[in-house]
Amino acid sequence: MTTMKAINEDLDIERRDQAFNAFLCHICKSKASFCQSKVCSGCKLISYCGIDHQKFHWKSHKSFCLTAQKICRELKLDNVFALPFCSNGSNSDSLWCQKRWKLKTIFEQHLKRCLSLYEVNMLFFPRVCKVCHSTKILKDLTCLKCYSVSYCSGEHQIIDDHEKICSDFEKVLDCDLFMQNVDLLSLESYLIEPNTKFDAHDTKSFLTNHIHSRLNAGLESLVSQYYSGILTVFHIISEMPNFTVGKRLIIHLVGASSSYEFQFMKYWETLLHLLPELHSLLLIHIGPELEDSPSILRPCDTCWNANKSIQVRFHSEFYHQYCDSFHASIPNMIVSFNCGLHEDEGTDNDMWKQSLPYFLKHVDVPIMLTAYTKEEAKRDLNRLINESIEHNIRVKVIKEFEKNPYSCVRPIRDWESPGDSVFYSNHYVSALAVERDDKLSPLTL
Ligand SMILES: [Zn+2]
Ligand SMILES: [Zn+2]
Ligand SMILES: [Zn+2]
Ligand SMILES: [Zn+2]
Ligand SMILES: [Zn+2]
Repeated sequence: MTTMKAINEDLDIERRDQAFNAFLCHICKSKASFCQSKVCSGCKLISYCGIDHQKFHWKSHKSFCLTAQKICRELKLDNVFALPFCSNGSNSDSLWCQKRWKLKTIFEQHLKRCLSLYEVNMLFFPRVCKVCHSTKILKDLTCLKCYSVSYCSGEHQIIDDHEKICSDFEKVLDCDLFMQNVDLLSLESYLIEPNTKFDAHDTKSFLTNHIHSRLNAGLESLVSQYYSGILTVFHIISEMPNFTVGKRLIIHLVGASSSYEFQFMKYWETLLHLLPELHSLLLIHIGPELEDSPSILRPCDTCWNANKSIQVRFHSEFYHQYCDSFHASIPNMIVSFNCGLHEDEGTDNDMWKQSLPYFLKHVDVPIMLTAYTKEEAKRDLNRLINESIEHNIRVKVIKEFEKNPYSCVRPIRDWESPGDSVFYSNHYVSALAVERDDKLSPLTL
């Protein structure tokens, strides 16, 4: 029988699994847990402050742990990171990246499922020497500010230039800790007031001027996560030539993933509060990872009494499937957050190839793309531009992979780098629109 206690326990474990730090107890994650914490003797990749917390987490950790043990037995190693590895030479950083990606693939093949986020982090930010990646680290040489790096020897500690990234890693940890303890329902109170006159030039000034004059770092990061995408949309709308907000705004959010998006829904009311002419906001999330569901959100009393509404729909489809379906709508704006349009281009896994022409079907409808890095933003935009050239469609670029003032301010450790950097959601933004061109034939699909 599933008891209330069991349900609450599952929810709690789910919350603990939102973040990972190899050096702190996975359940309490407090900095204080560092001293007692011991590594799991099975996989040697996760730490606990004691047997109670280890037992508590076993349900979630079991399949991964047993897989790690099996891989080690097969390779006759005591740790998956003890695989032979070249630490010297100019390309050791890229080898380190490759090795971690490879491990991820091996684990997923064994488990016959995708790894969850914290499991991926176990493989990307493991308990190894930051410099030579040896598993023989000395606990005394762990950084006691960020608790994110450790070394095998004093020599390696000295040659690592950790100083420049330590405060970013410390912020990652502080945000993770904050997220573990915050009451998500209390966040509803951070929605801005109706008929607000917008007074901000970036995420931080928005939070200071409109939300709270002094938010702590954890809360600031969390709330910025909710607002970043919405403010970026507002920013692009405000700067679009030929774009007027009418009574009704339909936004296609393409490539949206998971119910994670749902927590953020309430905050979209911000657009009703900032755009007085807007009465009805329709947000259509389209992505194969979503679960189909429509819902109408109850707006605040002021909006309710003024007959204003927000509707949210989730369609579990690729964008081209959605556009070809009977339930398709015509958008006023097309948005793809941290879209990665460039990823997998030209490979069998390329999921965007068929969808991209559908971004370019509507004249004067802004298309907004965001990315984690400038390089990605550049490649995403170029891909869409190349698509337009291929179909003889003239587009006007309004923002060319610019640094987004409304970027999220929560740092995330970067998987793709050797372990020395952080990135931010919606850090770069591009915007473009199809131009009316009488000489060229419009795209027929
Ligand atoms: Zn603990
Ligand atoms: Zn384990
Ligand atoms: Zn070392
Ligand atoms: Zn540090
Ligand atoms: Zn409202």
